[in-house]
Order: sequence, then C-alpha cells, then structure tokens
Amino acid sequence: VRRIVVVGASLAGLRAAEELRGQGFDGELVVVGDEPHRPYDRPPLSKQVLAGTWDADHLPLAVAHEGGLDGLDVDWRLGTRATGLDLATRTITLADDDVGVELAFDGLVIATGASPRWLPGCRTDLAAVHTLRTLDDSLAIRAVLDTTPQRVVVVGGGFIGAEVAATCRSRGVDVTLVEMLPVPMGVAVGDEVGTLMADIHRDHGVDVRLGVGVERVDGSDRVERVRLTDGTVLSAALVVIGIGVVPNTAWLDGSGLTVDDGIVCDATGQATSGVFAAGDVARWPSRRYGRSLRIEHWDNAIAMGEHVAQRLLAGSGGSAGSGDDGDVYDPVPWFWSDQYDRKVQLAGVAAGADEMQVVEGSMDERRFVALYRQGDRLAAVLAMNRPRPVVTYRRQIQAGASWSDALATASG
Ligand SMILES: Cc1cc2nc3c(=O)[nH]c(=O)nc-3n(C[C@H](O)[C@H](O)[C@H](O)COP(=O)(O)OP(=O)(O)OC[C@H]3O[C@@H](n4cnc5c(N)ncnc54)[C@H](O)[C@@H]3O)c2cc1C
Repeated sequence: VRRIVVVGASLAGLRAAEELRGQGFDGELVVVGDEPHRPYDRPPLSKQVLAGTWDADHLPLAVAHEGGLDGLDVDWRLGTRATGLDLATRTITLADDDVGVELAFDGLVIATGASPRWLPGCRTDLAAVHTLRTLDDSLAIRAVLDTTPQRVVVVGGGFIGAEVAATCRSRGVDVTLVEMLPVPMGVAVGDEVGTLMADIHRDHGVDVRLGVGVERVDGSDRVERVRLTDGTVLSAALVVIGIGVVPNTAWLDGSGLTVDDGIVCDATGQATSGVFAAGDVARWPSRRYGRSLRIEHWDNAIAMGEHVAQRLLAGSGGSAGSGDDGDVYDPVPWFWSDQYDRKVQLAGVAAGADEMQVVEGSMDERRFVALYRQGDRLAAVLAMNRPRPVVTYRRQIQAGASWSDALATASG
C-alpha cells in the first residue's frame, strides 16, 4: 500500500489517519474534506458554541501523535469534495472548479458522515431557518440568537433538537419544541425515558408540542411563523430543523458499492476489497444485536475509524475481511447528551428492547440507572446523572451478560 486516501476530514477520518500513522504506515496519506476547516469536534456545536461560551478555537480535534496534526504528515485537501469513485481504476474524482481531478489510491477509507434532512416543503431561501451539523451552521444560529428578539421553534425532538432547545432556554429564549411522534427521543431511549425528557424540558419552560407536525414555515425574507398540522400558528424569529440525517453517499452513485441508508460493509467494516467505511456513514452487521447498525455517535466514529485503519493495513498483508474475530467490528455503542443540568448516557442499543427497569435511583429524582432487556440478554444501560455504573454494565453487555446476571449485579 503506497497511497491511502481518506475521504471525510472529521472525527472518523482523522482517527483513521492517526491510527494509520500510529501503526507505522509511512506511505502517502491524503485526507479530502469538503469543509474548509481542519477536523473539529461537533458535540459542542449544540452546547457550548450555541450557548456562546465557546468559540471555534475550542473545537479543533486533538491529536495524540507526536507533532500533533502536522506530525501526521498528511496531504490535506480541504474545501475539496469527492464527487466519484471508480473501483476498476481505483481512483476517486475530486471537484476542482469545473474540472474533475483524479486521485488514485491503494487503500480507501470513506468517512463522509451525514447531512441533516431539510424539512419537506420548507423554503430554502428564508433567513433564520437552519439545520445544525457544521461549525458554520452553529455560528449562523448563534448570530440570530445574538441579534434578534427571540422566539425559537425547534422542529424535531431527537437529541440534536432537544439539545438546541435546552441551550436556547439557557440563553433565556422562548422555545417551542415540535415533535411529530408522541414521545421525544423515544425511539432511542424508550417511551418512559422520552416522556421524562419531555417533562424536564417543560419544567425548564419549553413549550413541548408532541404528536404534531409542521405544515408550513412562512415569512417574507425572514421566517416569521410556523403553522402546525393541528392549525396552531407559532410566531418564530428562528427555526432550527432537527429531523435526522442522511448519510453522505450520493457521490458514490454508480460506483458499485452497496448503499442502503449508509455504505453497507461486512462485519469488519470493509465495503469491498481495500475500501473501508467508518463513522456515521457506515453500516455493518452487528452479531451482538443480530441486525445491521449505522450509529451516529462520537465514540463510534473514533472506534470504527481506528478499526478500519488497522484492517486496511492488515489487509495489505492479506488478512482483512477474513472474518476472524479480531477483524470483526462489534462494539457496544455509547453516547451522551447534555440537556440543562442533566447528562444522559446510553451504552448498547435500547431501540426495540422488550423491557426497561430502573435499578438505581429513581426517575422522580431525575438521577437513575435503567437497564434494557432484549430476549434474555442485557441490551443497554441508560444513566441520568449517574455516570459510573455505565462502565460496569457496558462491560457486561460486551461480555454478553444475561438479564438475570445484570439484575444480580444491580441488587448486589
Ligand atoms: C450538533 C451535534 C452535536 C452532537 N452531539 C453529540 C453528543 O453529545 N454525543 C455523541 O455521542 N455524539 C454527538 N454528535 C454526533 C457526532 O458528532 C458524530 O457521530 C460524529 O461527528 C461522526 O463523525 P464522522 O467523522 O463519521 O462524520 P462527520 O463528523 O459528519 O464528518 C464527515 C465529514 O466528511 C465531509 N464530507 C461529506 N461528503 C464529502 C465528500 N463527498 N467529499 C469530501 N468530504 C465530504 C463532511 O463535510 C464532514 O466534514 C453530535 C453531532 C452534532 C452535529
């Protein structure tokens, strides 16, 4: 392997590049990213950056490698979009004004992440209507919060929408949170915890509207009103849309890679020979959960970036994709979310669980640990303001613990 190209200059891409160098890869390493910025961290975008307590200079991703980012000896192609992949010639095409530039590779890591969905039917030319994925998005939303008499409508009660609502409230802004489903965040954490999260938002003064959609977003140049499907009209100086993301795979159309809500990889993270995917864009079969997963968590982007870098190098020695256990990527996913003074952590996959039990603290105190059962296994643990037990139960999930073992741990 002489040249490895990483497409996507963010968390998964950077961690892959770092791991490649850490494992001794001394060939040419090119990282292509369509944002103009060097790799930066996204979680603060809905938290400290939006709150106005952090600026862009807090965000660059740290690199453990000696010599920092520059010590990685990467040929950075920033502000450059990959527009195509040709597996036969093993080249990618880069957008360079009107002329496409071909870049050959021996190994390829695709870490192009995901982009926010736009609200269907909503005009794209209306000022102060935003999605939130990039630093530029966060600064644009913050600029509206800094200048306009404020009334914010957040569309979508997933984690991003809920964090935006919480941060806007912490700035003293009037917030309405609109969610089409009956429970916010319920798909990820279950109805009981989702209902509790809705209560927490209400207690902080958010007008939470559940089970209702958005019919229209109106205004002349700037947004002025949001009409809901139940006929309610909300005035709005800012609308933030948080209705989920779409993996960035359009540039792979016609490449021959299998794409199905993400790049479909084998159990090792390999999409096809010498081509790997990592982070939010990757889908792989999880043996642990018996289904394919595509995970949009910070921790997964790191772990998978590192994993595929190792597999890529091992593959040049002939073993990647063999399916040996060491090759297999099957982590216990983990994420956190900060809303007001509550930190929620979830390890494992709670979606589709058969049962949830609070085993420490209580939901009334808003400080608790809950376990999720799937079949006779411990599938997930969720903790609110109780971080330590997450480590214990995550280890148990990793080891394939039964539900009764987990309950025994809880009672012992
Ligand atoms: C506002 C916000 C808050 C978050 N908070 C949390 C949190 O609290 N906890 C948590 O666990 N996770 C959180 N996340 C999720 C976490 O940040 C993501 O899982 C992580 O960033 C995924 O990393 P990635 O490298 O796979 O993708 P991304 O970070 O999306 O990076 C992909 C990069 O590839 C670029 N790209 C796309 N297409 C191309 C192309 N064709 N050519 C070149 N470059 C391309 C993109 O512009 C982007 O720079 C948050 C995300 C956001 C947006």
